[in-house]
Amino acid sequence: MFELLDKLGIFLGSTDNYEEADSVIIGLPMDFTVSFRPGTRSGPQQIRNVSVAIEEYSVYQNKDLVDYSYFDGGDVSLQFGQVKGSLDRMYTVCKQIHADNKMPIMLGGEHLVSLPLIQAASEKYPDMVVLHFDAHADLREDYLGEPNSHATVIRKVCDFIGGKNVYQFGIRSGTKDEFEFAKNNTNIYVDKVIEPLKEVITTLGDRPVYVTIDIDVVDPAFAPGTGTPEPGGCTSREILEAIHLIAGKNVIGFDLVEVSPAFDVSERTALLGAKIVREAILAFTKPKTK
Ligand code: MN
Ligand code: MN
Repeated sequence: MFELLDKLGIFLGSTDNYEEADSVIIGLPMDFTVSFRPGTRSGPQQIRNVSVAIEEYSVYQNKDLVDYSYFDGGDVSLQFGQVKGSLDRMYTVCKQIHADNKMPIMLGGEHLVSLPLIQAASEKYPDMVVLHFDAHADLREDYLGEPNSHATVIRKVCDFIGGKNVYQFGIRSGTKDEFEFAKNNTNIYVDKVIEPLKEVITTLGDRPVYVTIDIDVVDPAFAPGTGTPEPGGCTSREILEAIHLIAGKNVIGFDLVEVSPAFDVSERTALLGAKIVREAILAFTKPKTK
């Protein structure tokens, strides 16, 4: 897989030893299918750039990144303009990470990148559930005739893991058809994040959990740097709390998508992204054995 990666900067405190790492950070700099404004291709690198501004210690969890081993492999080298070929490369990389029994921590890019990641994860963990945090339902069948789009990604996920295994939080935008589909097929929690998550968590037992966070679930006041901002979202504190609620579950894959540096005056969105990644590493992966 390393021949498919461009090594760029690295995320705060990451190791350069792939073999001993418990998790692997990979950037997926794709924004070919977005509807409103491109720019998320620069998201992964900007999250790395600003990660030096946060502490390695998390006061929420009383855990420190120095006790964790995670490898930053750089960004998947994409074939610009070629959606299928690019998604195939992401799939190949993600399959390899799972084959090596490491947890993927993937940074978008537009939300369509989650499709090959969830596909790869579900092949290893067929009884997996997906926890989807987003302003948008992403349940369209196609977007302006294009079936592969960041607006269709969760619909496509439902096709292969079953909508009953998909839990959607914070959703506040979509077509009437999407909400109709959700009502009949997925577990959708309109507008709210923390309250329903607390309930869902108690039902999951030790089933494998894949977490996908579209940064636009957070209100544009806290996360303006994104391609399709949607007013009325949760706070930055709530999205961190969501990660803490999921800690202790059997998380087997994680992605954070749709950070768009071009619209991120003050870099607050990328900073929130970096903090989400830190909390995710500390909450979802295992510390080094001493
Ligand atoms: Mn999305
Ligand atoms: Mn969204």
